Amino acid sequence: MSEQLVETATSQTAAEAGRRRTFAIIAHPDAGKTTLTEQLLLLGGAIQIAGAVRAKGERRRTRSDWMKIEQDRGISVATSVMTFEYAGQIFNLLDTPGHEDFSEDTYRTLSAVDAAVMVIDAAKGIEAQTRKLFEVCRLRDIPIVTFINKMDREAREPLELLDEIEKTLALDVTPATWPIGSGQQFAGVYDRDEAKLRLLREGGEQDVALSGPEDGRIDSLLPHGQGDVLREGIELASVYPDFDLASFREGHLTPVYFGSALRGFGVKHLLDGLARFAPPPSARSADARMVEPEEEKLTGFVFKIQANTDLQHRDRVAFLRVCSGRLRKGARLKQVRTGKSIPVNAPLFFFAKERQVAEEAWPGDVVGIANHGVLRIGDTLTDGEELNFQGVPSFAPEILRRIRLDDPMLAKKLRKALDQLADEGVVQVFRPLDGSQPVVGVVGQLQLDVLSSRIQAEYGVQISFEPTSWSTMRWIAPKENGQDRAVLERFLRTAPSQMAEDHDSQPVAFFTSDWGRRRSEEEWPQLRFLALREQH
Ligand code: GDP
Repeated sequence: MSEQLVETATSQTAAEAGRRRTFAIIAHPDAGKTTLTEQLLLLGGAIQIAGAVRAKGERRRTRSDWMKIEQDRGISVATSVMTFEYAGQIFNLLDTPGHEDFSEDTYRTLSAVDAAVMVIDAAKGIEAQTRKLFEVCRLRDIPIVTFINKMDREAREPLELLDEIEKTLALDVTPATWPIGSGQQFAGVYDRDEAKLRLLREGGEQDVALSGPEDGRIDSLLPHGQGDVLREGIELASVYPDFDLASFREGHLTPVYFGSALRGFGVKHLLDGLARFAPPPSARSADARMVEPEEEKLTGFVFKIQANTDLQHRDRVAFLRVCSGRLRKGARLKQVRTGKSIPVNAPLFFFAKERQVAEEAWPGDVVGIANHGVLRIGDTLTDGEELNFQGVPSFAPEILRRIRLDDPMLAKKLRKALDQLADEGVVQVFRPLDGSQPVVGVVGQLQLDVLSSRIQAEYGVQISFEPTSWSTMRWIAPKENGQDRAVLERFLRTAPSQMAEDHDSQPVAFFTSDWGRRRSEEEWPQLRFLALREQH
């Protein structure tokens, strides 16, 4: 390639990366994530009618057993990706399962986004799951745009909600809008940035530009008495810090929008905010070096595996987040963990309408790569370079069960099944050092149901679970790699029946109580006891 051609290719990568906005929605179940997703896709022209996201369930019905669990329980297990274009930008919305049993999946998805929308129910404020997910965003300083939803229902006072975000999450807030009433009285919002009223009207929004908070039209447009309440609100809003892009991008400040996803109100304003403020893909840290998105060579990592798109062929789709360069159809990529060359013949793009074979993908994009179990969560793919991205996290599970195999002749088959399902991140698998039956770790009971039902359906192996006395586990690592290795070896020998290796042969220890764990930590000061492990 001539130098000039290289130059053009590089700047095209920069330009394409520059218009990608890759984000997820975090919310406590029922806050309105699905409803908001539909409205966003509608605005992005990705779907024709609101309701299409739900229609996915119809297709699922024809799939396999574990999909049936999903169907029966009315929850969405699978993470999907939805791509749409808006305001000249390409948005990749990475959907996350709402059910808390699958929060591990959600955590991994958050490792692949550059921004998040936090949806809060206006009557409930910050809920348990909102908080947990927020903490994961904070770990990597993901910028957050907040949407306070369900203003068309009885809501808490805006001031109370804003203070709660500020205090419980230790996050600065800038109200982008101030709501006018709530419930039956919800009339719309005051847009602080543009000094205009955005009024809730049947079938949409009516915008009225104002000369300022003193504009007399406020009183003529709003129901009696609300003008004064609004003026007071505008005054209160000015107490909060002004919006600051740098602070937002560092994850310290969130702009807050009030609206109603169900009524489609406030959603366009939110999306405009995302288009203006959410960052394009930025440099990502790998073990060897920082990787810039505009680099010409391709890099990316797998954050999600989805199985059972076709039970007969046992095919799996690995979701690759592109971090740098251009991915071309037909490329061969290096799987750094194994050194294998992986053909990418038919990368799938996940436009909400249908799956499409993509010709190319750019930094920020997510593509699906069909494979038969070669790729696993945390895998880095490159154009040949030896580097590994950090940051697909595993969390110490709190439900630990030993697997009981009904037919011992099937032990080998079970091993393969567990390996593959651990690759997909369905459960974490631990192999005790004393050679006893494997232990699985999950965040929620539902994962166990999915595991046994898939092992039965796909591998023909019947298993059940035995309780263990353990309530927690930790990854164990030496503090100083060289000299403390021997200490680690010694520690592992103290109680082999309570020690195991994880799926990547990393040592772990099980504990029956927090007290026991703390005691071990005190007794073994040369070791680190980790509740979170970032995979390579
Ligand atoms: P998710 O669990 O977060 O995906 O929540 P959903 O989008 O499924 O919404 C949960 C329930 O709240 C559904 O019955 C929605 O119709 C309802 N809902 C969502 N957004 C709004 C809203 O803005 N106003 C009202 N009144 N209901 C809403």
